[in-house]
Amino acid sequence: MDSLDRYSRQVIFPGIGKEGQEKLARSTVVVIGCGALGTVAATALARAGVGTLRIIDRDFIEYHNLQRQILFDEEDVRLQIPKAIAAERHLKAANSAIEVEGIVADVNYRNVERLVEGADVIVDGLDNLETRYLINDVSLKHGLPWIYGAAVSSSGMMMAVIPGRTPCIRCLFPSLPPVGQNGTCDTAGVVNAAPMAIGALQGAEAIKVLLGIETAGLISIDVWSGQFSRLNVDLQPSLDCPACHGRYEFLDARFGVRTTSLCGQNAVQVLGSGDATLSFDEVARSLRSIGQVDYNEFMLRFVVDGREMIIFPDGRAIVKGTADESAARSLYAKYVGM
Ligand SMILES: [Zn+2]
Repeated sequence: MDSLDRYSRQVIFPGIGKEGQEKLARSTVVVIGCGALGTVAATALARAGVGTLRIIDRDFIEYHNLQRQILFDEEDVRLQIPKAIAAERHLKAANSAIEVEGIVADVNYRNVERLVEGADVIVDGLDNLETRYLINDVSLKHGLPWIYGAAVSSSGMMMAVIPGRTPCIRCLFPSLPPVGQNGTCDTAGVVNAAPMAIGALQGAEAIKVLLGIETAGLISIDVWSGQFSRLNVDLQPSLDCPACHGRYEFLDARFGVRTTSLCGQNAVQVLGSGDATLSFDEVARSLRSIGQVDYNEFMLRFVVDGREMIIFPDGRAIVKGTADESAARSLYAKYVGM
């Protein structure tokens, strides 16, 4: 396959050119979170010929994801494939000339530095601000650019954070908002054009960062009203931002929780205690007398008393049908017990 022909339409674009194309082929991008934003950005980057893509996501695919998560299809839902694995398969089918690695994991302060190792840019496809702050910390600590993106309802925002050059996300939003204050896909809904537009802009911004081109600043859009703006932000890092001054409070686990309510799902994620590797054969044996169990190599589904739990090999679980974190934690303790 002739790679010059494959990429010819962007090679003739003066901003990229042959040299830029070769640079993309030598680049590594880590996409964290493969929902609506992540599927769009990863698709753009894979098709543009970024040499190595690492896609990290903790979740599996459900029917209500298909409305906006463009990499996935009904077969993925039926086969119960985690998003990271399905993304890897579909992206490899779109471009076999690049390396794509899907990793099923929850990104947290214990593993984030290992997961972003070797990256030239991180793309944020997350659905929660807490993990974004963690990405922000890791970015500033290692001088690694990342592309912030968020979308809910009909609007969204996007900005490239270049350590030492631009403000970071904590310069803009100094602390976590109280629980329930921010709208989520759960409460506010989402028009698919919003994350699709933001994800596409994140893809373009990642390419510009890889090629050393000046970034666009903070872009804010509303796809329903048709308002698009570049917001005026202070171009320097903030003087009283902890993260810009070497205090990585999220990476140092000064903040952080072991249970998380999941956006758009009426479900709670519970983290295991460490780097466990579960044997699904053994877990299934012990749970089979209590409830209904089925599993594949990626995840184990357990249904008991009308509750459903998805358990991953690293000991992480998603408890469905509740947003109550303490109820989910006790269910986890009862049946997984770590
Ligand atoms: Zn900052």
